[in-house]
Amino acid sequence: MTVPVTFESKLAPVIGDKSARPLAKSFGIETVGDLLRHYPRRYLEIGQLTPLSDLELDQHVTIMAEVRSVKKFPFGPNGRRTRTEVLVTDQSGEITLTFFAKIYALKPGDVGLFSGVVGSFRGKLQLTHPQHDPIGDRLARGVVPIYPASASASSVVIERCVGMVLDAVEDLPELLPDAVRDARGYGDVAASFESVHRPYSIAEAMTARARFRFEEAFVIQAVLAQRRHAAAAATATARPSRAGGLRDRFEEQLPFALTDGQREIAEVIGAELATTHPMHRLLQGEVGSGKTVVALLAMLQVVDAGGQAAMLAPTEVLAAQHHRTITRMLGDLARSGMLGGAEDATRVRLLTGSMGTRARQESLLDLVTGEAGIVVGTHALIQDGVEFADLGLVVVDEQHRFGVEQRAALVDRAETRPHTLVMTATPIPRTVAMTVFGDLDVSVLAQLPAGRQPIQTTVVPIADRPAWLDRAWQRVREEVGRGRQAYVVVSRIGSTDEPGGDAGAEESPTRSLLELHEELAGGPLHGLRLGALHGRMAADEKDTVMSRFAAGEIDVLVATTVVEVGVDVPNATVMVVMDAERFGISQLHQLRGRVGRGSEPGLCLLVTAADAESPSAERLKAVASTTDGFELSRLDVSMRSEGDVLGTRQSGFRSSLRLLSVVRDEDVIVAAREAATAVVAGDPALSGQPALAAAVAAIEASDSAEYLERT
Ligand code: ADP
Ligand code: MG
Repeated sequence: MTVPVTFESKLAPVIGDKSARPLAKSFGIETVGDLLRHYPRRYLEIGQLTPLSDLELDQHVTIMAEVRSVKKFPFGPNGRRTRTEVLVTDQSGEITLTFFAKIYALKPGDVGLFSGVVGSFRGKLQLTHPQHDPIGDRLARGVVPIYPASASASSVVIERCVGMVLDAVEDLPELLPDAVRDARGYGDVAASFESVHRPYSIAEAMTARARFRFEEAFVIQAVLAQRRHAAAAATATARPSRAGGLRDRFEEQLPFALTDGQREIAEVIGAELATTHPMHRLLQGEVGSGKTVVALLAMLQVVDAGGQAAMLAPTEVLAAQHHRTITRMLGDLARSGMLGGAEDATRVRLLTGSMGTRARQESLLDLVTGEAGIVVGTHALIQDGVEFADLGLVVVDEQHRFGVEQRAALVDRAETRPHTLVMTATPIPRTVAMTVFGDLDVSVLAQLPAGRQPIQTTVVPIADRPAWLDRAWQRVREEVGRGRQAYVVVSRIGSTDEPGGDAGAEESPTRSLLELHEELAGGPLHGLRLGALHGRMAADEKDTVMSRFAAGEIDVLVATTVVEVGVDVPNATVMVVMDAERFGISQLHQLRGRVGRGSEPGLCLLVTAADAESPSAERLKAVASTTDGFELSRLDVSMRSEGDVLGTRQSGFRSSLRLLSVVRDEDVIVAAREAATAVVAGDPALSGQPALAAAVAAIEASDSAEYLERT
């Protein structure tokens, strides 16, 4: 009795070891399902010859072409072996195939499929290691699928393996409920795999592809719909506002009026905190739109209701800055138990990984006793040993890399969930928000506080115009002469103090920062008070430098991207970004958001040695041309890979995508979200859809597996 072949079956027993090995090696294809989801890249209609002028060198291709001539040459010892040269054409161009064998099957006028790597020999195109495959019984179907292939696994070989699998497989998981399939006019899973791999027409193949593209979106949306459903069942402690409490008094003593946007969103959040339903809100706000105040109002409401609030920042610099700003803004409202403290004042604590033991102990104690109403920290806050008396709200600030891992760590584990507010300055395109943050409600803070001056951004191309760099330093001197301050940002890829940054810098960035610092101090910025800030400094050193810069005791801060997010020194008006081409679009937008935060216009100079025609120069021009974060993020996303867009925690999503693009397929995602929400509403456990339930569980499992590895 043979074991039935299913979607999960190992491939080797079905198609043989010899065929299976290159598939595993080239594409990581291990199972029947993996191979069936290795969809054709495109389809050729029999008789439609491949345009040979489009072929790119070094690519592995499969072409359909007509034989023009076949020539045989003897070679080898005593001329006993035969080399066959076949010239094939698409009428417009031609390419030579050299086989070291006799080829009898081809004669002029035949049309065949030829695979190989495109090379060039004496100025003529040729296919190296060519393989010939007669059209054969494909003629009946009229369409040939062309698969993503490699030298060891050609499209023709893959096509044959897929055929064997399709003939053998008995049980395919149907992920789309009947009603969803019917409504969209899709076939069942078996028919659709047949259509996508062995179609009779290109139209048939396209319908099947559309089905599988929708299916990918549908499974992800089912995951999110289930998460939303679970969240709806979870409870939180209600934290209603208290008249005359800290929140009210803080609002009264604010030195500025809230913008309309701030007021509206603060109201929405305030109302949500007052219910026993856990808030899950994403606050997207343009750089400098004033998200911190909104978060602080929410945190104070929770403190007024007897709870605690934790604010997570991505870097120690930012955590320390928030701690300072919040303490300063609250004034006597944050001086619990201290001289001059207001009645029922609270305490604001800081918790970071590199704090001294004593300070850390103090913070931990205040958290567990509830003495501290507010704590600001880095990911150190989510480590074991950190206990709260009554955590009511988690604010995740500057979640500008599209990930949600920190939020999950604090929130997912608790029985009674704290409310959560995720803040990001990177506007996220709708489709990505629907995928990555699909279980969050979204508010957008588009308006900047009144009186803000625009930031002017200029590219300084030092390859063409080296003198412009001197002019840049002169601008810095002018601003400092007017009592303003400046940043000089040095490129640095990866850092050890930022979660999500790829640790391990490209070269020794610290040295290049220090070198530049020295060069500037001895040359163009001689006589100015310079400071240096980078991720490898001890936390207290960083803190001292930032405090001095904030206090105006440093004129020019030479820094790495530790200043990228959130740093807020309104007196800084000019920023010079060195090697600007090494930064991404969103990163540059973030960086320049550090200037022009006060009433003075900001100036950002992007210094680059990149060729004016290069893609990186184009990117810089784009950044210089607009300050609209949404527009830039669309550009940015369109230039990133899908995996990049989905972020680190979404590994399960990422690896399930074959046909769907979260960047382009908005309509598919919207439709899938609707359908999945309806299905989950009717059958939350998906017990009527075992295959779908299993796919959803697999994604959740790979997400949390990844998550566990990271902590
Ligand atoms: P972001 O949204 O980028 O995090 P911040 O919260 O750091 O922005 O705010 C940027 C600056 O604007 C801060 O100095 C803050 O005090 C100030 N600010 C916030 N709201 C207002 C307002 N309504 N009017 C004037 N200034 C404001
Ligand atoms: Mg901020």
